[in-house]
Amino acid sequence: MISLVTGGAGFLGSHLCELLLRGGHTVLCVDNFSTGSNQNIRGIGSEAFRAINHDVSEPLAIEGDIDYIFHLASPASPVDYMELPIQTLRVGAMGTYNMLELAKEKRAKFLLASTSEVYGDPQVSPQPETYWGNVNPVGPRSVYDEAKRYAEAITMAYHRYHGLDTRIARIFNTYGPRMRLNDGRVVPNFISQALNGEPLTVYGDGSQTRSFCYVDDLVNGLYRLMMSDYCEPVNIGNPEEHTILEFAQIVMRITGKNVGLVFTDLPVDDPKQRRPDITRAREVLGWEPVIQLEDGLRRTVEYFRHIA
Ligand code: NAD
Ligand code: UDP
Repeated sequence: MISLVTGGAGFLGSHLCELLLRGGHTVLCVDNFSTGSNQNIRGIGSEAFRAINHDVSEPLAIEGDIDYIFHLASPASPVDYMELPIQTLRVGAMGTYNMLELAKEKRAKFLLASTSEVYGDPQVSPQPETYWGNVNPVGPRSVYDEAKRYAEAITMAYHRYHGLDTRIARIFNTYGPRMRLNDGRVVPNFISQALNGEPLTVYGDGSQTRSFCYVDDLVNGLYRLMMSDYCEPVNIGNPEEHTILEFAQIVMRITGKNVGLVFTDLPVDDPKQRRPDITRAREVLGWEPVIQLEDGLRRTVEYFRHIA
């Protein structure tokens, strides 16, 4: 089994590469290291692993067979994709097109790492896959949301018109070791602030909700989805929902640092609530997260203590 993982030097991609290697796959990691890092894959000693420095928004020629393409390449944190707006649109559009073409050429199965952001600021909660979403097409987050919506559309078009064997994972907020300390997402922000003895920066009044999935659970879900025969989108995430204020309290408790809070403006179009309905993942994949938030956070705090 030969798997190609785009974005393989990123947070989720590097964990997925390791899972695949453990499962006996040969793994080609394709990454341009824009938001990922060599550090994330440095520890992979396997001869079955190869990293290729390439921007997948440009066509990619690979010799030999490929059985599976996991397409994860894309900036993912709001800070990153707002700093890289054109690159984000390009990788969602051209990057996905190039990887679908490669999958067609190689007759490989293709999995798109999509996102809960396709639901925008949802008016339905929890969000089932049948919900079409509430996305501002011209707001600052649209570079990411619309790129992913386009990526889903072109993936389904290759499935319908070329008979390509495709999968769409709608990934909800995921956390764990190898998140970048400064990627601006709430988990690394709160943990690094707590460890440095600084107050946690709550955007808005902190009443907005998120549901956090530990990375090991998440990559297991991606693998199961790829190995299934299900072509419709599947939510992969943890349905346990917390307000950001509750989440701040949990981080302070786990780090043992009662640093307090500072409140700043809520970013434009920040979704008010986000919680996956994972009925489909349970029924089709027999998957659900098993790692409790506090356990996953302890492991993540340990990681940040070492690199901070
Ligand atoms: P990340 O930034 O750590 O990883 C993304 C990787 O893609 C990086 O290694 C980056 O260098 C690479 N990349 C970006 N543009 C590229 C290009 N043009 N060519 C080649 N490589 C490129 O982010 P992540 O959290 O690991 O996210 C991975 C994927 O999962 C993304 O597609 C993201 O949209 C999706 N996702 C993640 C989350 C989450 O909570 N982590 C939630 C929803 C969706
Ligand atoms: N957030 C926050 N403080 C921070 C970073 C983020 O209050 O230092 C909030 C943010 O406004 C959002 C939630 O935490 O409501 C999750 O933000 P993140 O950037 O992690 O991901 P998102 O779910 O918005 O893509």
